[in-house]
Amino acid sequence: MQLTFLGAAGTVTGSKYLLEGGGKRVLIDCGLFQGLKELRLRNWEAPPVHPGTLDAVILTHAHLDHSGYLPRLVASGFKGAIWSTRGTRDLAAILLPDSAFLQEEDARHANKRRFSKHSPALPLYTKVDVEAALALFQTVEFDETIELGGMRIRLSPAGHLLGAACVHVEADGTDVLFSGDVGRPSDPLMRAPRPVVGARNLVVESTYGNRRHERSDPGEQLGTVLARVLGRGGIVMIPAFAVGRSQAMLLLIARLKASGTIPDVPVYLNSPMAIDATGIYRAHSDEHRISAEECEVMCRAATYVHTAEESKALNKLTGPMILIAGSGMMTGGRILHHLVAFAPDPNNALLLVGYQAAGTRGEAIDLGADEVKIHGDYVPVLCERLRIDGMSGHADYTEIGDWLDAMSVRPAAVYVTHGDPPAADAFRRYLGDRFGWKAVIPKHGDTVTLC
Ligand SMILES: [Zn+2]
Repeated sequence: MQLTFLGAAGTVTGSKYLLEGGGKRVLIDCGLFQGLKELRLRNWEAPPVHPGTLDAVILTHAHLDHSGYLPRLVASGFKGAIWSTRGTRDLAAILLPDSAFLQEEDARHANKRRFSKHSPALPLYTKVDVEAALALFQTVEFDETIELGGMRIRLSPAGHLLGAACVHVEADGTDVLFSGDVGRPSDPLMRAPRPVVGARNLVVESTYGNRRHERSDPGEQLGTVLARVLGRGGIVMIPAFAVGRSQAMLLLIARLKASGTIPDVPVYLNSPMAIDATGIYRAHSDEHRISAEECEVMCRAATYVHTAEESKALNKLTGPMILIAGSGMMTGGRILHHLVAFAPDPNNALLLVGYQAAGTRGEAIDLGADEVKIHGDYVPVLCERLRIDGMSGHADYTEIGDWLDAMSVRPAAVYVTHGDPPAADAFRRYLGDRFGWKAVIPKHGDTVTLC
């Protein structure tokens, strides 16, 4: 088998691995590059592999940095099957149209304000491209085998997000395990990643390769910061997509309200695709920890905001309130116009609950930038900045280490991906110290033969 790293090599976004073996060519994940401009420009280049020559795409999960390039791949000639779990398919059916909508909105905005060098500015893909991509999805159960020529592919639960999976592929007398994004052992919402047997070759993520999450209860941390900001009448902005981490936030917010830790303030989930996700969480109850009743409480904890007019109207409201809007790293989406409206006021707060990749507005704010550029203008960030790492959907390096330690088959080759360079390098060294593994960090475009 041959493996080529077409994304998430030396960076956290753009996950894409070309795997050739058993007479087939498949992509494991098909993610968007986000963050640094030099990375985002890769989304606009010709596809790194001729889409017509690919037999299939296998998705680990629905986050856009793993699935968001699919519509572009399909528009460029991919006609094979897109294999995923049902959970991933259900979430992709919400996240991909959301992504197309935001890109079309950004292109419209750029044309109106004429700040793009390209005239007219075009979206990377449209809702029509997304529909074509969604039509190619085929679902598979966890542990069911997909036979593709001489390849045998199996998915196992990775926690992290509904439907999220590790992917194990056997072909040509060897095997490889892709960790995908690994969830946390004690996430409030999602179950722990299931232990896996292992494989001769391992491709493992390293998002938090150099950071440990605080061990204190994220609900308590959230309660403390929310009570303080809401108590002074402030607005708390939380960048997150409509489905995924948002529900974990809503669950904790509902519990904090019920216990009287925070006041019963309005909570808005603002996204064009904002949906009551009760049905989705109920349909996948084996993947999370909460009861049907709590699913309902969680999903009812917010008012869903759909239209652009309703979204803009939120900017005229006063605190205390909680606003959840995409995107999670503030690379686009409705969170941006909330930042314009509310970030200049020191009474308000911006709460980061997810990973902020290099080059994103989220990273700039997290590192202390006192202004960010939004739609061509500089916006002062004078509001309080807060971060709760314990809300992350990613395992930290010790948690991934423990998950790897449970494998009975030890890898002969280890590739560390999906991490910014300092995180990937720290994780590479950690694997050496803890297990004696000589892991490598592949470069973008590298091809290796798996033995
Ligand atoms: Zn993810």
